[in-house]
Amino acid sequence: MNNSFSAADLDFQQQVRAFFEIEFTPELRARANDGRDVKGVAVEWQKKLYAKGWVAPGWPKELGGTGWTPVQKFIFETERCNAGAPDVVPFGLKMVAPVIIHFGNDEQKARFLPRILKSEDWWCQGYSEPGSGSDLAALQTKAEKDGDHYVVNGAKIWTTYAQYADWIFCLVRTGNFEKRQQGISFVLIDMKSKGVTVNPIHSIDNHHSLNEVVFDNVRVPVENLIGQEHQGWTYAKALLAHERTSIAEVSNSKRNLAEIIELAKQQTNHKGRLIDDPHFQQRLSDIEIELMALEYMDLRVLASMSAGDTPGPEASLLKIKGTEIQQALQELRMETIGAYSASLRVDEFQNELHREGSSSRKEYMYGRAATIYGGSNEVQRNVIAKAVLGL
Ligand SMILES: Cc1cc2nc3c(=O)[nH]c(=O)nc-3n(C[C@H](O)[C@H](O)[C@H](O)COP(=O)(O)OP(=O)(O)OC[C@H]3O[C@@H](n4cnc5c(N)ncnc54)[C@H](O)[C@@H]3O)c2cc1C
Repeated sequence: MNNSFSAADLDFQQQVRAFFEIEFTPELRARANDGRDVKGVAVEWQKKLYAKGWVAPGWPKELGGTGWTPVQKFIFETERCNAGAPDVVPFGLKMVAPVIIHFGNDEQKARFLPRILKSEDWWCQGYSEPGSGSDLAALQTKAEKDGDHYVVNGAKIWTTYAQYADWIFCLVRTGNFEKRQQGISFVLIDMKSKGVTVNPIHSIDNHHSLNEVVFDNVRVPVENLIGQEHQGWTYAKALLAHERTSIAEVSNSKRNLAEIIELAKQQTNHKGRLIDDPHFQQRLSDIEIELMALEYMDLRVLASMSAGDTPGPEASLLKIKGTEIQQALQELRMETIGAYSASLRVDEFQNELHREGSSSRKEYMYGRAATIYGGSNEVQRNVIAKAVLGL
């Protein structure tokens, strides 16, 4: 890809590299790797990006976006991953913000967007319910009008980072029509409202990022409705396309691949260095070829999004391929590190290989979810069958 960079792009690359070197300090890196202060690290990092004007590459320039070309976005993402710096938390900046920008009114834009840019509000996503995941239109959380408020009752599940959230964007049922999608509305709910309860769900990687969020007669001002009542499905779909595109995580996978190669140079099997094993090389190159193809597709989608398009079924292709590659790399990384990846726990006295093994196992375990969240890969295949193949 480097061959196509202009002199201005190469200059931009140097600026980005310098920024990560200075701002992603060893102290911040250590806290990010440690994983215990998720919110503190994310907010501190996003504020640094905001101060530089780089926190929202996907937003229109007049609202705080960067105005970058697709190549500049690509360079930024690549350098971020090479530096090992965290991505921004997507729920505010990449998910609800595009919906507010496209479908919100002027008051909502003025009220919410600056606070999202400055990381003053932490958002979470309230789509899934115990009985409606893939079949999202089956959702039951009800919002009934009472004067100038909606009264919300129901429960959302798998709500990532709800324990930190100031706001939740929610799909709620405001009416019952023949077509189930028609009675759904998109509302913004203050997590401090009376009647909101967050119950933790601990996942297999021994982490707490998931939650159940229960609404018990929660009063939500009607001014927190986005767009038209009953039309939330349209906005929800636009948001999901953005979500699926960002789940592809090409640059992260490229970095993971490069790190696996370095690990394989140090690890040995009964024949010698792992990196010299033809079977291992075959597996590496199979993944690398798929990743290169995904990268070109990602760039095409990035270019059309920069031209103002909302991604269509290609978002589903990116989601399927991106998450399959992530999982293939997670498996290979665990195998490369061998027995060290047997345990999730790391004790004080253990060495770098134990730490590497434990983090590889954690990523592998949480990584099982990547083919489920953002809409399961089976359901994405249905989308492609219908929208692309016309089946
Ligand atoms: C780690 C993680 C984080 C998440 N974070 C959030 C969040 O922050 N906010 C939020 O709202 N949701 C979140 N989710 C929920 C996620 O979007 C749902 O889990 C997902 O949409 C699948 O729904 P489900 O779990 O109800 O499974 P189900 O819909 O019950 O599906 C079960 C299985 O059946 C298959 N299946 C279902 N329907 C079809 C079909 N028509 N054709 C073929 N196969 C089908 C599915 O692929 C799956 O394998 C998260 C999930 C995970 C795992």
